[in-house]
Amino acid sequence: MALAIETEQPIPFARTVITARARQAASRVMASGWVTTGPEVVAFEKDFAQWVGAQHAVGVASCTAAIEISLRALELAPGSRVLTSTITFCGAIHAIIHAGHIPVLADVDPVTLMPSADTIAAALGQGVEAMVVTHYGGHGAPVMELAAAARLPLSRVVEDAAHALGTTIGARRVGSISGATCFSFYATKNLPIGEGGMITTDDARIASLSRTLRIHGMSGDAWKRYMPGASWRYDVTEDGIKANMTDVQAAIGRVHLTSLASWQRRREELAAHYDAGLSFVRGIVPPPHPADGRHAWHLYVIKVKPEFGVTRDELISALTAQGIHCSVHFIPNHLQPYFRRFVARGSDFSAADAAFREIVSLPFYHSLTTREIDRVCAAIAEIGASSRVTTTTPTPAFRW
Ligand SMILES: *Cc1c(COP(=O)(O)O)cnc(C)c1O
Repeated sequence: MALAIETEQPIPFARTVITARARQAASRVMASGWVTTGPEVVAFEKDFAQWVGAQHAVGVASCTAAIEISLRALELAPGSRVLTSTITFCGAIHAIIHAGHIPVLADVDPVTLMPSADTIAAALGQGVEAMVVTHYGGHGAPVMELAAAARLPLSRVVEDAAHALGTTIGARRVGSISGATCFSFYATKNLPIGEGGMITTDDARIASLSRTLRIHGMSGDAWKRYMPGASWRYDVTEDGIKANMTDVQAAIGRVHLTSLASWQRRREELAAHYDAGLSFVRGIVPPPHPADGRHAWHLYVIKVKPEFGVTRDELISALTAQGIHCSVHFIPNHLQPYFRRFVARGSDFSAADAAFREIVSLPFYHSLTTREIDRVCAAIAEIGASSRVTTTTPTPAFRW
């Protein structure tokens, strides 16, 4: 007999949906006898390039690999200085180091949590040779303005679009604005495969170098060498890595791409629902909306101000206790023990440090329900209100 007690289900921070059709496509590939890079990757690259409006797309193992390969494809001198935000995923910093370069971290604008022309100018020092621009949370970064501030042509900019599949800057989709744009298909991202990444570009040389770099620096369509009748000869022409995408991944990605537009519209509705639910909660600042262009709403990041009454950490603990799971994007990288060695003395990260004390990423994915959002908003409002009752209402005086 089923118990009549209704307990509320936990609300995870992320949910990975692999659709039934995508699972069938993956299983067809596994049955085909060809599971590594092959025709499915070629087809996914074509579909993806078309979706983002770029000339070329190169499927890789992850966005981290995409950033490393893109930077290598820029053919900078070894040990070049490459600027990026301190508020990004640590993998983006490792990618700069693994490409043979020196990361130069910049502080952020307190509202968008992305570098501004001013924070870039402050971080430039002796100048930089390239820059990785992150579209934080899916909010488009002003790529051209930031390139100008770093005194770089757009061809020396790599976009980290791990959050920005579906982002537009004005009317233009992110994907062909800079030298190379890097996307992620990690389990929690807007187009989940599980693992995977893509480089898109309008530059034929960057595309062809990336194809070589992703598979041991072997020239040509290296995957074709196992095809019937193909030659066993190959040339190693570049200092490549092993970061190719498999046909199993590509099959899932291709099917999911057909749902992406509707998933993105759902994310827009859900963000608006959160905005409305949190608009009356004192001390909670919802995320900014771009003035011009579409937000991809990968993350929904709120700021917890002192007026809220409890700290960011206390809010996360109280929500966790109610089965509502949150995250923080990101711990600023200048605070990470390994990256400290790259931080110039006297660097100012005051905006990132202040933001880091306040930011919380709330549960957010296309399969979230408005009822779940209502529960999250009610819980936040209640946690703030109860703290203010105890801290701001004078306790009734006892008469002895
Ligand atoms: C997830 C993420 C990455 C890395 O993506 P992977 O595909 O997991 O390598 C890079 N940058 C940002 C901003 C991310 O959020």
